[in-house]
Amino acid sequence: MEKEISDIAIIGCGPAGLSAAVNASIRRKTVDLFGGELCAPKLQKSSVVNNYLGSPNITGEILRKNFLEHANEMNIFIRQNIINSIVQNSHGNFTLKAGDAHYNARSVIIATGITVDKLIDGEREFTGKGVGYCATCDGPLFTGKDVAVIAYTGEGVEEANFLMEFCRKVYFIAGDKKMFNGLKDGIEVIEADNIQVITGVSSVTGLRIDGHELGVQGVFIYRETYLPDTLLPGLAVKENHILVDREFKTNIPGIFAAGDCTGKPYQLAKSVGEGQVAALIAVNYLDSAQA
Ligand SMILES: Cc1cc2nc3c(=O)[nH]c(=O)nc-3n(C[C@H](O)[C@H](O)[C@H](O)COP(=O)(O)OP(=O)(O)OC[C@H]3O[C@@H](n4cnc5c(N)ncnc54)[C@H](O)[C@@H]3O)c2cc1C
Repeated sequence: MEKEISDIAIIGCGPAGLSAAVNASIRRKTVDLFGGELCAPKLQKSSVVNNYLGSPNITGEILRKNFLEHANEMNIFIRQNIINSIVQNSHGNFTLKAGDAHYNARSVIIATGITVDKLIDGEREFTGKGVGYCATCDGPLFTGKDVAVIAYTGEGVEEANFLMEFCRKVYFIAGDKKMFNGLKDGIEVIEADNIQVITGVSSVTGLRIDGHELGVQGVFIYRETYLPDTLLPGLAVKENHILVDREFKTNIPGIFAAGDCTGKPYQLAKSVGEGQVAALIAVNYLDSAQA
């Protein structure tokens, strides 16, 4: 449990998040930067980048390493934590939750990229009504009930093990058998890619996979990137992009967004530029709050 408060929490260590962190640090703000196991995974997949000014014919991986070295040289530390939720407290500050770890910040820049995984039918409809993204936060609500964990990342294993401590039945569903390592006895594993629909009426009652229906009251989903409005309820989005103005302010004062998560074109230079502007506007926001 973290008690300190940073000036700016930045969620996502891709080009937008790293650019925001570098610029906020230059402006002498304290920064907490969060990311998954690999920062800027899209750059790693990019064999050649030809449109980043000043670096013709550079491989995505070299650019990625250059970005990380730049951040490292400025003593920017990256916390390997996937943020599951953001909560605003009564003082207007924010608490970011990553499993059972909590981090406090005066402002937040969301730079989480875009989710490439297709949403499961029913997922959006039942979010908060049985569909969740953090067992550590919401799991106890399902004590004595049957739940499913759908894992696209390794984080799902730890969360399924936690659910097994108090749920009646835990199903663990992943497309790759390697993901089943480390699960507690009693968890029922299902290897499946074809998750068809989350069913229910006012809340979740089931999950249909490969034509079979599992009776569950809870479904927990673990991806590299969360839908922005599931991260922070009330955040204005349109077609899965966060709505921002020209200063990358969202509809919630103190929350900014930058990079692919704000919309097309999904491009490196746009992400780096937006990260910079979001950081500078966040600095203004903090300075005017203190004045
Ligand atoms: C194969 C490929 C080739 C490309 N080639 C080019 C090119 O040649 N030129 C070009 O301009 N663009 C290219 N792009 C696009 C470019 O890579 C993206 O526009 C850019 O990476 C977006 O940066 P971003 O920081 O917004 O998001 P991302 O790069 O997606 O980074 C987001 C980061 O946030 C992390 N994250 C997400 N959710 C959370 C959370 N809840 N908590 C903590 N961390 C989180 C992710 O793990 C990731 O590290 C290419 C993309 C791909 C996939």
